[in-house]
Amino acid sequence: MPELPEVETVVRELRPRLKNRKIKSVRVLLPKMVAMGPGTLSNLRKNAHDVALSFAYTLRGKKITDVKRRAKMIIIDLAGKFAILVHLKMTGQLIFLDKKHLDKQIRLLNVEDAPPQRLPAKSTHVIFEFTDGAKLFYNDYRQFGYLKLVTDKELPQVRELQEYGPEPLDNRYAIAQLLSSLNKRPNAKIKQFLMDPKNIAGIGNIYSDEILYYAKIRPIRRVRSVKGEERRRLFMAIKKILKDATAHYGSSVGDFVRPSGDWGTYGLLHKVYGRAGEKCKKCGSIIKSIKFNGRTGSFCPKEQR
Ligand SMILES: [Zn+2]
Repeated sequence: MPELPEVETVVRELRPRLKNRKIKSVRVLLPKMVAMGPGTLSNLRKNAHDVALSFAYTLRGKKITDVKRRAKMIIIDLAGKFAILVHLKMTGQLIFLDKKHLDKQIRLLNVEDAPPQRLPAKSTHVIFEFTDGAKLFYNDYRQFGYLKLVTDKELPQVRELQEYGPEPLDNRYAIAQLLSSLNKRPNAKIKQFLMDPKNIAGIGNIYSDEILYYAKIRPIRRVRSVKGEERRRLFMAIKKILKDATAHYGSSVGDFVRPSGDWGTYGLLHKVYGRAGEKCKKCGSIIKSIKFNGRTGSFCPKEQR
Protein backbone atom coordinates (compact mmCIF):
# COMPACT_ATOMS: atom_id res chain seq x y z
CA MET A 1 0.00 0.00 0.00
CA PRO A 2 1.45 3.38 -0.94
CA GLU A 3 2.49 5.48 2.07
CA LEU A 4 3.65 9.10 2.32
CA PRO A 5 6.91 8.72 0.31
CA GLU A 6 5.12 6.94 -2.55
CA VAL A 7 2.22 9.41 -2.69
CA GLU A 8 4.64 12.36 -2.47
CA THR A 9 6.59 10.83 -5.39
CA VAL A 10 3.38 10.62 -7.45
CA VAL A 11 2.59 14.28 -6.68
CA ARG A 12 6.11 15.52 -7.45
CA GLU A 13 6.16 13.70 -10.78
CA LEU A 14 2.64 14.60 -11.81
CA ARG A 15 2.76 18.30 -10.90
CA PRO A 16 5.06 19.47 -13.74
CA ARG A 17 3.39 17.09 -16.19
CA LEU A 18 -0.22 18.00 -15.45
CA LYS A 19 0.05 21.69 -14.60
CA ASN A 20 -1.56 23.84 -17.31
CA ARG A 21 -2.75 20.81 -19.29
CA LYS A 22 -6.36 20.93 -20.45
CA ILE A 23 -8.63 17.89 -20.21
CA LYS A 24 -10.10 16.93 -23.58
CA SER A 25 -12.11 13.93 -22.38
CA VAL A 26 -12.42 11.44 -19.55
CA ARG A 27 -13.31 7.79 -20.02
CA VAL A 28 -14.58 5.95 -16.97
CA LEU A 29 -14.31 2.21 -17.68
CA LEU A 30 -15.39 1.14 -14.19
CA PRO A 31 -18.06 3.55 -12.87
CA LYS A 32 -17.72 2.55 -9.20
CA MET A 33 -14.19 4.02 -9.06
CA VAL A 34 -15.44 7.63 -9.35
CA ALA A 35 -17.68 9.83 -7.21
CA MET A 36 -19.08 13.35 -7.11
CA GLY A 37 -19.20 15.41 -3.92
CA PRO A 38 -17.57 15.19 -0.50
CA GLY A 39 -19.47 12.20 0.94
CA THR A 40 -18.01 8.77 1.51
CA LEU A 41 -18.67 6.34 -1.29
CA SER A 42 -21.77 4.24 -0.92
CA ASN A 43 -21.28 0.49 -0.70
CA LEU A 44 -24.05 -0.03 -3.17
CA ARG A 45 -23.08 2.76 -5.54
CA LYS A 46 -26.49 2.40 -7.14
CA ASN A 47 -26.15 5.34 -9.48
CA ALA A 48 -22.56 4.62 -10.40
CA HIS A 49 -23.24 4.86 -14.11
CA ASP A 50 -24.95 8.28 -13.91
CA VAL A 51 -22.24 9.53 -11.56
CA ALA A 52 -19.54 8.40 -14.00
CA LEU A 53 -21.25 10.27 -16.84
CA SER A 54 -21.49 13.50 -14.88
CA PHE A 55 -17.90 13.06 -13.59
CA ALA A 56 -16.64 12.87 -17.18
CA TYR A 57 -18.95 15.62 -18.42
CA THR A 58 -17.95 18.07 -15.67
CA LEU A 59 -14.24 17.55 -16.30
CA ARG A 60 -14.35 18.11 -20.04
CA GLY A 61 -12.46 21.27 -21.01
CA LYS A 62 -11.10 21.94 -17.51
CA LYS A 63 -7.51 23.07 -17.03
CA ILE A 64 -5.30 21.64 -14.27
CA THR A 65 -3.67 24.34 -12.14
CA ASP A 66 -1.80 22.31 -9.50
CA VAL A 67 -1.22 18.86 -8.00
CA LYS A 68 -0.93 18.67 -4.21
CA ARG A 69 -0.97 16.16 -1.38
CA ARG A 70 -2.57 15.96 2.06
CA ALA A 71 -1.56 12.80 3.94
CA LYS A 72 -2.12 10.04 1.37
CA MET A 73 -4.73 11.99 -0.60
CA ILE A 74 -3.71 13.44 -3.98
CA ILE A 75 -5.46 16.73 -4.81
CA ILE A 76 -5.62 17.79 -8.47
CA ASP A 77 -6.73 21.43 -8.60
CA LEU A 78 -8.69 22.63 -11.60
CA ALA A 79 -9.27 26.15 -12.92
CA GLY A 80 -12.71 27.28 -11.86
CA LYS A 81 -14.05 25.80 -8.69
CA PHE A 82 -13.26 22.09 -8.82
CA ALA A 83 -10.67 19.62 -7.55
CA ILE A 84 -10.21 15.89 -8.09
CA LEU A 85 -9.27 13.91 -4.98
CA VAL A 86 -7.46 10.65 -5.70
CA HIS A 87 -6.82 7.99 -3.07
CA LEU A 88 -4.68 5.07 -4.23
CA LYS A 89 -5.59 2.88 -1.22
CA MET A 90 -4.05 -0.61 -1.73
CA THR A 91 -3.11 -0.86 -5.40
CA GLY A 92 -4.00 2.41 -7.17
CA GLN A 93 -1.58 3.71 -9.83
CA LEU A 94 -1.47 6.98 -11.78
CA ILE A 95 0.61 6.75 -14.94
CA PHE A 96 1.21 9.65 -17.30
CA LEU A 97 2.26 9.19 -20.93
CA ASP A 98 2.79 12.02 -23.37
CA LYS A 99 1.62 11.69 -26.97
CA LYS A 100 4.95 10.36 -28.25
CA HIS A 101 5.13 7.58 -25.65
CA LEU A 102 1.58 6.24 -25.57
CA ASP A 103 2.81 2.82 -26.67
CA LYS A 104 5.40 2.59 -23.89
CA GLN A 105 5.47 -0.85 -22.25
CA ILE A 106 5.22 -0.69 -18.47
CA ARG A 107 5.63 -3.33 -15.79
CA LEU A 108 2.67 -2.80 -13.49
CA LEU A 109 3.89 -5.21 -10.81
CA ASN A 110 7.31 -5.18 -9.21
CA VAL A 111 8.03 -8.87 -9.62
CA GLU A 112 10.66 -10.49 -11.84
CA ASP A 113 8.31 -12.14 -14.32
CA ALA A 114 5.68 -9.39 -14.63
CA PRO A 115 5.27 -8.78 -18.36
CA PRO A 116 5.71 -5.20 -19.59
CA GLN A 117 2.41 -4.10 -21.07
CA ARG A 118 0.78 -1.26 -22.96
CA LEU A 119 -1.93 0.90 -21.41
CA PRO A 120 -4.85 0.66 -20.99
CA ALA A 121 -4.31 -2.60 -19.11
CA LYS A 122 -6.93 -4.86 -17.54
CA SER A 123 -6.59 -2.87 -14.31
CA THR A 124 -7.08 0.53 -16.03
CA HIS A 125 -10.38 2.04 -14.85
CA VAL A 126 -10.19 5.74 -15.76
CA ILE A 127 -8.40 7.47 -18.65
CA PHE A 128 -7.88 11.24 -18.92
CA GLU A 129 -7.00 12.52 -22.37
CA PHE A 130 -5.48 15.99 -22.69
CA THR A 131 -5.84 18.40 -25.59
CA ASP A 132 -2.23 17.78 -26.64
CA GLY A 133 -2.78 14.01 -26.88
CA ALA A 134 -1.09 13.07 -23.57
CA LYS A 135 -2.95 10.64 -21.30
CA LEU A 136 -3.23 9.92 -17.58
CA PHE A 137 -4.27 6.39 -16.62
CA TYR A 138 -5.77 5.34 -13.29
CA ASN A 139 -5.13 1.63 -12.68
CA ASP A 140 -6.30 -0.26 -9.62
CA TYR A 141 -5.98 -4.02 -9.49
CA ARG A 142 -7.90 -4.47 -6.24
CA GLN A 143 -10.33 -1.57 -6.85
CA PHE A 144 -10.23 -0.06 -3.34
CA GLY A 145 -9.10 3.40 -4.47
CA TYR A 146 -11.23 6.23 -5.82
CA LEU A 147 -11.38 9.51 -7.70
CA LYS A 148 -13.74 12.04 -6.21
CA LEU A 149 -14.74 15.31 -7.90
CA VAL A 150 -15.53 18.10 -5.43
CA THR A 151 -16.13 21.83 -5.63
CA ASP A 152 -13.87 24.22 -3.70
CA LYS A 153 -16.77 24.79 -1.30
CA GLU A 154 -17.14 21.06 -0.65
CA LEU A 155 -13.42 20.53 -0.07
CA PRO A 156 -13.46 21.46 3.65
CA GLN A 157 -16.34 19.02 4.17
CA VAL A 158 -14.42 15.97 2.94
CA ARG A 159 -14.24 13.81 6.02
CA GLU A 160 -10.96 12.05 5.23
CA LEU A 161 -9.23 15.43 4.94
CA GLN A 162 -10.55 16.63 8.29
CA GLU A 163 -9.31 13.57 10.15
CA TYR A 164 -5.68 13.55 9.07
CA GLY A 165 -3.04 14.35 11.67
CA PRO A 166 -0.01 16.61 11.11
CA GLU A 167 2.29 16.32 8.07
CA PRO A 168 5.60 14.90 9.36
CA LEU A 169 7.73 16.41 6.58
CA ASP A 170 6.31 19.89 7.13
CA ASN A 171 8.95 22.19 8.68
CA ARG A 172 6.32 23.24 11.18
CA TYR A 173 6.05 19.68 12.50
CA ALA A 174 8.15 19.89 15.65
CA ILE A 175 8.97 17.46 18.44
CA ALA A 176 6.45 19.16 20.75
CA GLN A 177 3.63 17.93 18.49
CA LEU A 178 4.87 14.35 18.57
CA LEU A 179 5.26 14.45 22.36
CA SER A 180 1.78 15.79 22.83
CA SER A 181 0.21 13.08 20.65
CA LEU A 182 2.30 10.38 22.39
CA ASN A 183 0.99 11.62 25.73
CA LYS A 184 -2.58 11.20 24.52
CA ARG A 185 -2.10 7.52 23.60
CA PRO A 186 -0.04 5.96 26.45
CA ASN A 187 -1.47 2.46 26.03
CA ALA A 188 -1.12 2.11 22.26
CA LYS A 189 1.69 -0.03 20.93
CA ILE A 190 4.27 2.22 19.33
CA LYS A 191 3.94 0.73 15.82
CA GLN A 192 0.17 1.05 16.02
CA PHE A 193 0.57 4.66 17.18
CA LEU A 194 2.74 5.52 14.16
CA MET A 195 0.28 3.91 11.75
CA ASP A 196 -2.76 5.83 13.05
CA PRO A 197 -3.24 8.75 10.62
CA LYS A 198 -4.84 10.84 13.37
CA ASN A 199 -1.46 10.95 15.17
CA ILE A 200 0.78 11.51 12.11
CA ALA A 201 -0.20 11.55 8.44
CA GLY A 202 0.97 9.00 5.89
CA ILE A 203 2.81 6.25 7.81
CA GLY A 204 1.89 2.60 7.21
CA ASN A 205 3.40 -0.83 7.66
CA ILE A 206 6.65 -0.27 5.77
CA TYR A 207 7.77 3.04 7.24
CA SER A 208 6.65 2.33 10.82
CA ASP A 209 9.03 -0.67 10.78
CA GLU A 210 11.89 1.32 9.26
CA ILE A 211 11.35 4.30 11.59
CA LEU A 212 11.37 2.06 14.67
CA TYR A 213 14.58 0.34 13.52
CA TYR A 214 16.29 3.70 13.17
CA ALA A 215 14.93 4.82 16.56
CA LYS A 216 16.07 1.49 18.13
CA ILE A 217 12.62 0.79 19.58
CA ARG A 218 10.75 -2.55 19.31
CA PRO A 219 7.40 -2.26 17.51
CA ILE A 220 5.35 -3.89 20.28
CA ARG A 221 6.41 -1.51 23.08
CA ARG A 222 3.68 0.57 24.73
CA VAL A 223 3.88 4.30 24.07
CA ARG A 224 4.16 5.04 27.80
CA SER A 225 7.35 2.97 28.06
CA VAL A 226 9.05 5.05 25.34
CA LYS A 227 10.77 7.87 27.19
CA GLY A 228 13.13 10.84 26.95
CA GLU A 229 16.00 10.08 24.61
CA GLU A 230 13.95 7.41 22.79
CA ARG A 231 11.23 9.92 22.00
CA ARG A 232 13.82 12.32 20.62
CA ARG A 233 15.27 9.52 18.46
CA LEU A 234 11.78 8.62 17.27
CA PHE A 235 11.14 12.17 16.12
CA MET A 236 14.47 12.28 14.22
CA ALA A 237 13.71 8.86 12.68
CA ILE A 238 10.29 9.92 11.39
CA LYS A 239 11.79 12.90 9.55
CA LYS A 240 14.87 11.06 8.28
CA ILE A 241 13.25 7.84 7.03
CA LEU A 242 10.36 9.59 5.24
CA LYS A 243 12.74 12.10 3.66
CA ASP A 244 15.21 9.44 2.49
CA ALA A 245 12.44 7.23 1.14
CA THR A 246 10.96 10.14 -0.82
CA ALA A 247 14.40 10.96 -2.25
CA HIS A 248 14.49 7.34 -3.55
CA TYR A 249 10.98 7.64 -5.06
CA GLY A 250 9.44 5.36 -2.43
CA SER A 251 9.40 1.58 -2.18
CA SER A 252 8.07 -0.49 -5.05
CA VAL A 253 6.73 -3.28 -2.91
CA GLY A 254 4.04 -5.01 -4.93
CA ASP A 255 2.10 -2.57 -7.06
CA PHE A 256 3.72 0.82 -6.56
CA VAL A 257 4.74 2.32 -9.91
CA ARG A 258 5.76 5.95 -10.44
CA PRO A 259 3.79 8.10 -12.92
CA SER A 260 6.75 7.72 -15.31
CA GLY A 261 6.29 3.94 -15.25
CA ASP A 262 9.55 3.48 -13.32
CA TRP A 263 9.87 1.93 -9.87
CA GLY A 264 10.84 3.45 -6.55
CA THR A 265 14.21 2.21 -5.29
CA TYR A 266 13.93 2.58 -1.51
CA GLY A 267 12.83 -1.06 -1.17
CA LEU A 268 16.47 -2.07 -1.74
CA LEU A 269 17.45 -0.05 1.34
CA HIS A 270 14.90 -1.51 3.78
CA LYS A 271 16.60 -2.57 7.00
CA VAL A 272 13.81 -4.63 8.57
CA TYR A 273 10.51 -4.42 6.65
CA GLY A 274 9.88 -7.63 4.73
CA ARG A 275 13.24 -9.06 5.91
CA ALA A 276 12.17 -11.45 8.71
CA GLY A 277 14.51 -14.45 8.78
CA GLU A 278 17.28 -12.56 6.96
CA LYS A 279 20.43 -11.12 8.54
CA CYS A 280 20.46 -7.56 9.86
CA LYS A 281 22.53 -5.52 7.41
CA LYS A 282 24.30 -3.81 10.30
CA CYS A 283 24.83 -6.32 13.11
CA GLY A 284 24.18 -9.69 11.47
CA SER A 285 21.41 -10.79 13.87
CA ILE A 286 18.44 -12.58 12.33
CA ILE A 287 15.55 -10.13 11.81
CA LYS A 288 12.47 -11.22 13.73
CA SER A 289 8.83 -10.55 13.12
CA ILE A 290 5.97 -10.35 15.55
CA LYS A 291 2.22 -10.33 14.90
CA PHE A 292 -0.13 -8.11 16.89
CA ASN A 293 -3.42 -6.30 16.23
CA GLY A 294 -3.55 -8.00 12.84
CA ARG A 295 -0.22 -6.46 11.83
CA THR A 296 3.29 -7.78 11.46
CA GLY A 297 6.20 -5.78 12.84
CA SER A 298 9.76 -6.69 11.84
CA PHE A 299 12.72 -5.71 13.98
CA CYS A 300 16.35 -6.40 14.82
CA PRO A 301 16.36 -8.18 18.21
CA LYS A 302 19.84 -6.93 19.05
CA GLU A 303 19.61 -3.24 18.15
CA GLN A 304 15.96 -2.56 19.03
CA ARG A 305 15.00 -2.55 22.69
ZN1 LIG B 1 20.88 -5.30 13.81
